[in-house]
Amino acid sequence: MDTSESLFKLALKDRTKLREIETFMKSSLTSVNDVHESSSDRFEKFCKYFLGMSKLPQERAETRLKNGMVMIEKLRKENLTALPPIPQKQIDLDAPVKFAKKVGPFREEKLFRIGITTVRDLLYHFPRLYDDWRHPLSILNLRVGERVSAIAEVVNVEKRRVKGYTIVTAIVTDGFSNMYLVWFNQDYVYERIQDAKNLAFSGIVKNNYGQFQVVSPDFEVADDSPPKITPIYDLTAGISQKMMRLMIETNISFVHLIKEPLPQYIIEKRNLLGVKKTVYGIHFPKSEYHMRESKRRLVYEELFLLEASQLMTRLKFQSKGGIPKKFQGKLSQKFIESLPFKLTNAQKRAISEIEHDLSKPIAMNRLLQGDVGSGKTVVAESAMLHVIESGFQVAFMVPTYVLASQHYERLKADLQSQDITIELLTGSTSPSEKSRIKESISRGNVKIVVGTHALIQKDVSFNNLGLVIIDEQHKFGVKQREALMSKGKAVDTLVMTATPIPRTLSMTYYGDLDVTVIDEMPVGRKKPKTLLVSNSRRDEVFEFVKKEISKGTGVFWISPLVEESDKIDVKAAKEIYEEFVKGPFSNYSVGLLHGKMPSEEKIKVMERFRKKEVQILVSTTVIEVGIDIPHANIMVIEHPERFGLAQLHQLRGRIGRAGDKSYCFLITTGTEVERLRYFVHTFDGFSLSEYDLKLRGPGEFLGTRQHGLPEFKIADLFKDADVLFEAREDAKELLNGDPNLDSHPDLLEEIRRRYGERVKFVEVG
Ligand code: ADP
Ligand code: MG
Repeated sequence: MDTSESLFKLALKDRTKLREIETFMKSSLTSVNDVHESSSDRFEKFCKYFLGMSKLPQERAETRLKNGMVMIEKLRKENLTALPPIPQKQIDLDAPVKFAKKVGPFREEKLFRIGITTVRDLLYHFPRLYDDWRHPLSILNLRVGERVSAIAEVVNVEKRRVKGYTIVTAIVTDGFSNMYLVWFNQDYVYERIQDAKNLAFSGIVKNNYGQFQVVSPDFEVADDSPPKITPIYDLTAGISQKMMRLMIETNISFVHLIKEPLPQYIIEKRNLLGVKKTVYGIHFPKSEYHMRESKRRLVYEELFLLEASQLMTRLKFQSKGGIPKKFQGKLSQKFIESLPFKLTNAQKRAISEIEHDLSKPIAMNRLLQGDVGSGKTVVAESAMLHVIESGFQVAFMVPTYVLASQHYERLKADLQSQDITIELLTGSTSPSEKSRIKESISRGNVKIVVGTHALIQKDVSFNNLGLVIIDEQHKFGVKQREALMSKGKAVDTLVMTATPIPRTLSMTYYGDLDVTVIDEMPVGRKKPKTLLVSNSRRDEVFEFVKKEISKGTGVFWISPLVEESDKIDVKAAKEIYEEFVKGPFSNYSVGLLHGKMPSEEKIKVMERFRKKEVQILVSTTVIEVGIDIPHANIMVIEHPERFGLAQLHQLRGRIGRAGDKSYCFLITTGTEVERLRYFVHTFDGFSLSEYDLKLRGPGEFLGTRQHGLPEFKIADLFKDADVLFEAREDAKELLNGDPNLDSHPDLLEEIRRRYGERVKFVEVG
């Protein structure tokens, strides 16, 4: 089928190929007997339809080719996909997995560990990859270190005892040369294979003194059973690959009980397999086509369900309404006029978009995204002032204590001429201060409260919270954002992030937000000159740093670790600090900053750095987010390979903030050099993010386990970006017509099953 399809495609462009089709069909007709009986008739018809085509006029030949494509699709659907037999017994798919066949309480406990709790979960435990046991072994094509999956003839099987070990060896051949399959201390293997003529096996190829060898391969005697594609699953201790396969195989007929969540018209529009064939096909594909199509459908389904749930959340959110804020903009205007600089056009645009949101009777739910140093804080301050002018309170949540107090100081300075009460609430606030501040918040005296996670504690309640702002959103989870939002009624929300998020990610992880991008830097900003320096040339960096310090610059010296560790060979912050104080920088003032220090000490050393009393600040990534020290123009990063590029970009964004020439040194030990070179020349946060997302996947990319959204089982945001856009479009169209999914109960049920918590929050909250 695949051959005819590609021939048709060629022939549509090039008429001379028509002859080739005829020859091919003629030869195919002779092999009709190999085709399954039930379809050999139709196969014959199919082949004959294309004979004599080269003599037809162009137009008619084309029509035939197009018809041919449709016929191929049909034949494939009928013959290359299949359904398992209908089960005799019924079962509740959502019953505990111990009720599945071959499971029981003993195995259930083990399955729990990999998140399989119901019968349905078992069916949705998809293979990680497949062994294709349909192809004969070809020893010439083997490569050491790669996985081989093949069927081969057995030459000899023997069992030996060496130093108390049992060694079973099977010699197999491809007809030209031999290779070895070896099992240690697995006597039972001998019993199983000693009489086998053919073995299907898989494993990693090794070179053993010039002989190809596979140790402990997966195998099956292949004398009677037809060759097939065999699934390989993620396992847990106590459950073997064979057992897992068996458990799924014996329960696979229950796919008949799965309800189709996707609307029929979408299945047709996107030409997808139905859910039963899909779940069957992902485990036990009847053909290459079956496997490919099952995968395609699952990718679509996964993305569609996520997009649909997010759009639903969003529509529900909007339908709840918001409180329109009434303001003239006097406070904000006064503040903006007091600034020592002019706003960039991008900042102006962001401010007016937010003004528009605030005055609408729909709660604002906006993501403000802008590269490090693009000036998001000013935009946030303007929004705060509008909301305060309308008589509401503002909560401003940030991920670290250091950043919270920096924002607090800055707000106090920026707004000193306005009569606004601002407080700082963090985990380090003293108990008496805490209760004073909480009291004041609940009375409504405090207009702006800046804080860390301390803000979402249960006992913090507001008088009339109108706006929630979250800085560096990527450091928080969705739940934390929602917890803070729930402290007011229909509050407006603004989240900010400097980690530029590729569109595919923002659609999946922030799909319920509107996005504003600040795509312009304040004038006069210079890019930090970024240099990759070998560790052996540290001394030269020391000299350069000394020269620059004498001109008044401040230096950040970054390490990925606080303390020395036996496990990883990394220069830790404390170690570097001690080295500097004793050695190269003994005549300078060196400071140390890391997350494990008490808060007052952190603030003290930051202040001394700000006042130039400390010249070199050795630090961990606590300074990564938001820290603003205008005279710091040098940053040295140890072990840059341990950071994500977006994170490195954040770090680099800490220097040169006053517009001076600045330098970022990456001290490398020679690993991941290519990635780092890309970083050296790239200053666009978006490109850096894309690059890293491709290399590391979304989990690593977001750099936080608490982003609160599920990992994809099967979709890949890079490879499947197109499918994502299609799924998004389909979900939008569907929900616009039926926002509560009243006429698609099975879809609603599936969304609830997967994203219940999220959807529920909106329903109650
Ligand atoms: P980020 O977007 O990384 O949070 P900030 O809001 O901290 O950036 O702003 C970075 C620095 O740039 C601050 O010192 C701020 O005062 C300054 N700044 C903001 N907007 C402008 C502007 N339009 N022109 C010049 N400097 C600006
Ligand atoms: Mg910031």
